Amino acid sequence: MRIQKIELGEIRIPLVTPFRTALRTVTEIRDIVVRITADDGQAGYGEAPATAVITGDTWGSIETAIREFIAPAILGMDIEDIDGIMRRMQKAILKNTSAKAAVDMAVYDLYARNLGRPLYKVLGGGSDSIETDLTISVNDVSQMVEDALRGVEQGFRILKVKVGKEGKGDVERIQAIRQAVGENVVIRVDANQGWAPKEAVRIIRSLEDKGLDIDLVEQPVNAHDFAGMKFVTANVSTPVLADESVFSSQDAIRIIEERAADLINIKLMKTGGIYEALKICGIAESFGVECMTGCMLESKLAVSAAAHLAAAKGVITRHDLDGPALCSTDPYEGGPVFEGPRIRMTGQPGIGIGKVPVEFR
Ligand code: MG
Repeated sequence: MRIQKIELGEIRIPLVTPFRTALRTVTEIRDIVVRITADDGQAGYGEAPATAVITGDTWGSIETAIREFIAPAILGMDIEDIDGIMRRMQKAILKNTSAKAAVDMAVYDLYARNLGRPLYKVLGGGSDSIETDLTISVNDVSQMVEDALRGVEQGFRILKVKVGKEGKGDVERIQAIRQAVGENVVIRVDANQGWAPKEAVRIIRSLEDKGLDIDLVEQPVNAHDFAGMKFVTANVSTPVLADESVFSSQDAIRIIEERAADLINIKLMKTGGIYEALKICGIAESFGVECMTGCMLESKLAVSAAAHLAAAKGVITRHDLDGPALCSTDPYEGGPVFEGPRIRMTGQPGIGIGKVPVEFR
C-alpha cells in the first residue's frame, strides 16, 4: 500500500471564549488539515495549527513545507515502511515541526487503519481512557474565578491556570481560584515563559507558603534559558514542567541531564509528530521522568492523535488535551469520545476520525 496523494485543506472553528495566554490572544481555531491517500483508496488525516509565537510555523510555511518538501520526499513510499517514511521526512526539511506533525499523524493514522487497529493499540497501549485538565485563560481575577467554577461544574477536576502576563497579580489569581474551587481540585499553573528566574522563585515560593497546593508550574521562564529553568527547579519544591524548552529528543536529554525541570510536556506540534514523541517517551522513562501531553489550539483531529499517544504510554501521566473542549462545535465524525474531562478511546481503526468536512486540494 503506497502513498499516492497528499492534499491540504483548512478548518476553522470558533472558540467558546477567547484563548488568552502570556503570549497571545486567539478567538478561533484555523488549522491546516492533511489528507494522505494510499493507492488502495484508504485515507489518513492529520492537522496542524500555525502557532507562530511558539513553533515559528505559519499557515504559509506549513503549506510550503508539505507541498514542496515533504510530499515529494515520501510520495510513492510503502505505508508499512513507517520508519523509512519518517526518516525521509526528517531529512527533507529542517524544523517546520507543525507541518511534520500533520503529515506524521496522517501517516500513523493510515498505518494503523491498514492494520485494522486503533492507533493507541498499535503504539502499545492498554489504557482506553484518559483524563484531561481544562485551561483557564489569563484575565482579571473575577473572570478567571468564574471560568474555573464553570469548568468544575462541567466535571473538570484538574485546572491549568494561565498566568505570567501581568506579573504582579499572579499569586492573587491562584489564591482566588483555590478559594473558589476548594481543595479537591488539582491546580496546575502555566506561566508561558512570563517570569524572570528570580521572580518565578519568589512567586512559586509565595504559592507554597500560602499552602495553595500546586501540582506543577509549567515553563516559568524563557524557553532558551536552561540555566534559569534550572535555577527555578532547584529553588522551589513545586515540580517544574518544561514546555517551550523541549521540542526534540535532544532538548529532552539536555533538560534531564541539566536537571533543568522535573517533568516534560510533549506536544506533537513541537516534536514534529508521534515518531519523535515516542523517542522522548523512551528517554524520559529511562530517567524516571514523567511526561504530560499537551496541545496547541488544535481541533479534535490533532488532539485525538495526541490522545492515542497518551493512552499508549504509561510514562505520560498528565494530560492537557482540552482543545476540543474549547471549540464551539465538533465538525468531525468518529474518533475518541471527548466528554468533559474524559477522553474515551474507541475500537475504530487508526485515529478513528472518519469524516473530515474540509475541501482538499
Ligand atoms: Mg504550556
